[in-house]
Amino acid sequence: MYRVKEAFYTLQGEGAQAGRAAVFCRFSKCNLWTGREKDRAGAVCDFCDTDFVGTDGQNGGRFESAAALAAHVRNLWPDKPGTPYVVCTGGEPLLQLDKPLIDALHTAGFEIGVETNGTLAAPDGIDWLCVSPKADAEVVITKCDELKLVYPQPLALPERFLGIRARHYFLSPMASPSAPEQSADPIKQSNTRKATEYCLAHPQWRLTLQMHKILGID
Ligand code: SF4
Repeated sequence: MYRVKEAFYTLQGEGAQAGRAAVFCRFSKCNLWTGREKDRAGAVCDFCDTDFVGTDGQNGGRFESAAALAAHVRNLWPDKPGTPYVVCTGGEPLLQLDKPLIDALHTAGFEIGVETNGTLAAPDGIDWLCVSPKADAEVVITKCDELKLVYPQPLALPERFLGIRARHYFLSPMASPSAPEQSADPIKQSNTRKATEYCLAHPQWRLTLQMHKILGID
């Protein structure tokens, strides 16, 4: 059984794949927070701005088999030229994404991207792996395509992750969990300045902004 909060067709808004059309498949549940406000203060990850609780979002649901979920994702991709791309996100997708689902998505013609907090081992077959470490949670993935660090996190400073082999190292300015409009979020504006300064001082790192929020397309 796979539990999906929501699934929708959009443009990837961040990182090295920014601007690419993708079906976003948001899996329910995370291992670093319950997703309930009453638990936020005691959570390992306490700045999350994503609703990943339940299966009641747009095109969300429970899927009995990998083939059923792959078919659901395929139905959200337009019948047009271009390589189908799915981004498995969450919540924490590696709580549910397994080899049968990877195989089913590949059979349906998809390249598979995954956005994970990096605390769980990734199955083989993922085409684009994005690791986004959170607080002091131990990261067990040692190699990925992009490392995307929300910045600043006092318990997750960039230097801690340079041992992870990645093709790209990104800083993503932290937003206030309660301010969805980027332009109206003074905390995010301040953090964007801090991230900019860090990238200028450490050019191995690149700044990434949440284009989908800036443009209002999520
Ligand atoms: S790890 Fe990701 S999905 Fe989980 S609580 Fe943190 S930001 Fe949200």
